[in-house]
Amino acid sequence: MPELNTIKVDAVIIGSGLAGLLLANELVAAGRRVLIATKGKLLESNTRYAQGGLAAVLKDTVTDSRQAHLKDTLKSGAGLTDAAVAEQIINGGAALVEKLSSLGVHFDKTSAGAPSLHLEGGHTSPRVLHSKDTTGKTIAEGLAAALTAKAADEHDLNRPVIFEDAFALDILHFQATPLAPRVATGVLILTDKGIVSVAATYIVLATGGAGQIFTRTTNPSVATGDGIALAARAGAKLADLEFVQFHPTAFCKEGQPAFLVSEAVRGQGAILVDDRNHRFAFDFDKEGELATRDTVAKAIHQTMLNRNLDSVFLDLRPIGTAEEIESKFPNIVETLKKLGVDATKEVVPVCPAAHYYMGGIATDAKGQTSLVGLYALGECAATGLHGANRLASNSLLEAGVMAMSLAKHINSQSFKAIHYKKNAKLTEAWLAHCRPFAVPTNRDALKSMMYKGAGLVREAKGLTQLQEQLDAISIYKTGIDRYERESANMLLVAKLIAKACALRKETRGGHVRSDFATPNDSAFLHHITFEKGAWRTQSIAAAPFISTERAVSLARP
Ligand SMILES: Cc1cc2nc3c(=O)[nH]c(=O)nc-3n(C[C@H](O)[C@H](O)[C@H](O)COP(=O)(O)OP(=O)(O)OC[C@H]3O[C@@H](n4cnc5c(N)ncnc54)[C@H](O)[C@@H]3O)c2cc1C
Repeated sequence: MPELNTIKVDAVIIGSGLAGLLLANELVAAGRRVLIATKGKLLESNTRYAQGGLAAVLKDTVTDSRQAHLKDTLKSGAGLTDAAVAEQIINGGAALVEKLSSLGVHFDKTSAGAPSLHLEGGHTSPRVLHSKDTTGKTIAEGLAAALTAKAADEHDLNRPVIFEDAFALDILHFQATPLAPRVATGVLILTDKGIVSVAATYIVLATGGAGQIFTRTTNPSVATGDGIALAARAGAKLADLEFVQFHPTAFCKEGQPAFLVSEAVRGQGAILVDDRNHRFAFDFDKEGELATRDTVAKAIHQTMLNRNLDSVFLDLRPIGTAEEIESKFPNIVETLKKLGVDATKEVVPVCPAAHYYMGGIATDAKGQTSLVGLYALGECAATGLHGANRLASNSLLEAGVMAMSLAKHINSQSFKAIHYKKNAKLTEAWLAHCRPFAVPTNRDALKSMMYKGAGLVREAKGLTQLQEQLDAISIYKTGIDRYERESANMLLVAKLIAKACALRKETRGGHVRSDFATPNDSAFLHHITFEKGAWRTQSIAAAPFISTERAVSLARP
């Protein structure tokens, strides 16, 4: 067994994307002791790869308003967006942009000095703030620089502790009686120096998405759904697990990465064509290339089937001259060149790839999960904002606004006792019993099964087969091997997605069923949730997922 260390902090944050880094910065600024752990380097996250930008209405004007942004978000969410949560998050956009700017994040401006705003699919007005086509990198670098500067200040006794290459294994938790709420006391983290047991008042999962569960994905290797698996094992409530967003336009060439070609290029005039150079998107929706992502992805899928194609093609040349394309989208043009395509001169082969996870750990509007002391932020959380389909560029908005909202909550509380002794006992028990866990015999097999059975278009037979296949590749292991623990998380989340997909016998937003091709409001206008091994439905009227009364009653004395 690796060596064990113990640490006690006010807040332990797992994950260093926008959600984790911003929360850490805000808590440290208010004098809280923070430990942030991330399984790669501080800059490795989905955030780092975000291109298009952050959707926010900074000020209501005659051309755009927060109400219009809300309306677009509700339309995209296909009946399952929680309007109150969405309103709160959208209203927080201006303060978020101000906060990020104050922490050194640069957003592009027009020549007149106003914020430069892009139009993206599903938005009725240009409202996406950006930093060229590398917005996420700019945000991640700005926030990481601010945090590492604080960590380097040796005179500050409260400086944050940063663990890189540190893998969160499990949440430690207890339940005093069968009817009492579950209480999270800390988290076990595997580092290169052994296991660290961190006891904290606030345990925050900011672990991002799960795109790596599918063969074709725009997500980096760290996006394996760990936080969702940790929360599931701790008995936290999960929601909307069937809703995976497949981005319509990922680079599509055998053996090459599914590099994302941002929606912003379509907002600037790029068009989709088939092998006959026919502009097909308008055959499916009057908004053409700028319909919501689920609609464009389905149009591409259908066109590929109809024409027996491996991909369709994105033509960036309507944007303008080669110089104009390059100046607006330097990263996209350069990366595509490395992949062998000059987007200023020729069409780019594209097809859908797993991109964003709408489902996740159910929270209330400040990130509280169903466990006392456990919070979830960003892509790993299900707040109710995205419903069945995320509106483009609403995820950076959500990750940032929710981080600020949780920071405000924590910073408004007096310093609270940490269940240090209880956490030590739970750590001892975890290490002594180290329960067997299921891992897939082959990770690549799991990914291709998921892409085939629970990919963009699903149906009953394929989903039944997928669930059988996932069971068939499950074997039990013990021990603390990081790769196996991560694979176990992927398998658990894959099984949850497959089951949730089978339960929703309709098509809604990002969940497309070929055997139930339309929405069925009378039977399915509800959320599907999973908690402590049980699948349930939750009325949309009962949202947020974790009710405020329950959150209050769960609050520590
Ligand atoms: C290519 C691409 C382009 C995108 N473009 C946009 C866009 O233009 N606009 C937009 O709004 N959204 C975009 N998105 C989505 C958006 O980037 C993410 O939803 C958002 O950044 C998520 O932020 P986060 O902080 O929740 O998680 P992430 O940024 O994914 O961070 C998660 C962190 O958790 C860490 N982690 C995970 N598991 C563990 C573990 N077990 N132990 C320790 N650490 C762990 C990871 O290493 C990582 O640091 C894009 C996504 C991709 C992949």
